[in-house]
Amino acid sequence: MHATSPATVQFRAGLPYNCAALTGAFETLCGGYLHIMDNSETGDGFQCSERFLQVLWNERRFCGELVTLDGRKVEVVAPGTWNVESGPDFRDAALRLDGVLLYGDIEVHRDPFDWYRHGHDRDPAYDKVILHVVWQTPTRQIADMPPCLVISGLLDGPWQRLTEELNAELYPYARRVGPGACALQWALADDGRVVRLLEIAGSIRFEEKVTRMQRAIIATGLGQAVYEGLFEALGYKANREPFRCLAQQVRLAYLQSLGGERAREAALFGGAGLLPDPSVTRLAPVWAERLPAIWDQWWRQGLSPLSLSWRRSGMRPLNSPERRLGAGVALLTRWDWHPDEWLLRTAAAADSPGALLRVLDEALDVHTPWSGFRTFAAGLGRPAAVLGQPRRRDIVANVLLPALCAAARQAATATLERHATEAFRSMASLQCNRQVNEAVHRFLVPPSRARTLLTRACLQQGILSLYRSFCLLLHGNCRICPFTGAGAFAQLSDGN
Ligand code: SF4
Repeated sequence: MHATSPATVQFRAGLPYNCAALTGAFETLCGGYLHIMDNSETGDGFQCSERFLQVLWNERRFCGELVTLDGRKVEVVAPGTWNVESGPDFRDAALRLDGVLLYGDIEVHRDPFDWYRHGHDRDPAYDKVILHVVWQTPTRQIADMPPCLVISGLLDGPWQRLTEELNAELYPYARRVGPGACALQWALADDGRVVRLLEIAGSIRFEEKVTRMQRAIIATGLGQAVYEGLFEALGYKANREPFRCLAQQVRLAYLQSLGGERAREAALFGGAGLLPDPSVTRLAPVWAERLPAIWDQWWRQGLSPLSLSWRRSGMRPLNSPERRLGAGVALLTRWDWHPDEWLLRTAAAADSPGALLRVLDEALDVHTPWSGFRTFAAGLGRPAAVLGQPRRRDIVANVLLPALCAAARQAATATLERHATEAFRSMASLQCNRQVNEAVHRFLVPPSRARTLLTRACLQQGILSLYRSFCLLLHGNCRICPFTGAGAFAQLSDGN
């Protein structure tokens, strides 16, 4: 899958994708993602940015035999998924090294010794790197590094032409994740068939969540199950695990047994290890007033903080663990610390799926002093809702509706079950996450087709489900993927 001219990208299976924007892209590239300049010092004629090298790897713009510095032949089965978060540059790549199939990560650098300079040799996040792709040939011996591939002499064209062919507008996604072998199938299926397939996949995903909730309800009861689900969702990506652990360790029954809001807030913030000692901490005025009483309650409980690893690096101040936990406390307070009773009461008062979605969203829209703060010491430049609408909608789709549906099944309440299921099916799209974007660029050509297809949460969940079930499970290796051979679209007759 390579660009055949500056204006046309010919995808595999002969599907033309005309990229008019490629013409004249060089200026954009130099001003944006790719910084390429002459550099006589390198002796290579030019020095390129790591981003450009990542693009080259993603596009597999190489020719001839790829051989690592230690003499092993490299065959790229799948270049991996461009990682936009911390860690190696590409995840879940598949390679053959001297014929041996390996799955793992890829790291890209200009200079091979950046591996040490960036501390990757001491960072467990890089333990799964199977290939180190570099531009410069090392000037001295290297050791304790994954197999190293120098690509400066392996490009499939002059670098000037390659820079012209790469279009910044298609990044960060369109070229980070290229179309898969099934893209033609998706392209040939009309919108109706695609929507039906996504609806089925999205409904199956919803069912899986309902089943998980049913198991949790049987194990711990509806209140604890909703509390855990809510806290997990509050952790979003980075802090999902510590939030889940907090809810499992500081149980709802314990919180309910405490007398008063402050004691409960103290148990959660203290248990989380997020409660600073007010006698030795410089606090913002609002917390200087409130925190001593919360600290006093925590001290009286005589407990120790849990050992939780909160992640803060690369995180927006709005998503700080303190703010998220403050939102959790505010919600539990609003629900009188009985999320099960609140949920069932609220749902019973809604007479249609649309009304159910409205009341659930309203119930998650809480106001707390945390609107203006990142931590007990640091404020935000501008106050902001602790739970914005996109996050509220995620919680409704992923926690509250599955919990309601599961509870309705337990109680054989058919109307409630139908309302919850239909509410999920009719919900408008959620915020796009990285995996949905990757799925879109793997399946849909052009990716902008997603705008007309992914108009509901159920359809987004459907594409995500297919992406996880096939692409991620198989490390993006289309050659062994049953999806193309299964004729998934052909099985969907008109009006099915
Ligand atoms: S792995 Fe399967 S589902 Fe994913 S892009 Fe390749 S053929 Fe399609």
